[in-house]
Order: sequence, then structure tokens, then C-alpha cells
Amino acid sequence: MACNHFRSAISARATGTPLPATVTEQALDHHLTSCLSCSRWSKHLTTLRAATDDILRRRRPAGAPQEPV
Ligand SMILES: [Zn+2]
Repeated sequence: MACNHFRSAISARATGTPLPATVTEQALDHHLTSCLSCSRWSKHLTTLRAATDDILRRRRPAGAPQEPV
């Protein structure tokens, strides 16, 4: 199965949405262990997702003074 077929499933997993009906959890796990490219992409997405969540958690309330950078 082609990588781009799994990329949408990887993206779905990273964002906590259900996998596409054509890709099972097992198939995705198997592909991630056998495909370095998708494995790296998955890690990248997960890292990005964690960073985004972190930024959203830290977002200051509207009207708060900006911290010096
Ligand atoms: Zn792949």
C-alpha cells in the first residue's frame, strides 16, 4: 500500500480523530514499523501537535501585557 494512503491515517491519529475506514490500527502500526519515511513523518506530526497544544495552553488572556522577548 502506498505511503500517501497511510499519511492521512497518521494525521488522523495525531489529531485524535478516527482513522480512515480503509486503514486499520494494525495496518498503520505495521507500516510505521516498516517504513522509515512515515515513521519520521509521524514523529514530526506528533511533536508538532504537542508543541501546538503547549502554545495554546500558554496563550495569555486577551489584554494581558506582552512579555519581553
Ligand atoms: Zn510509508
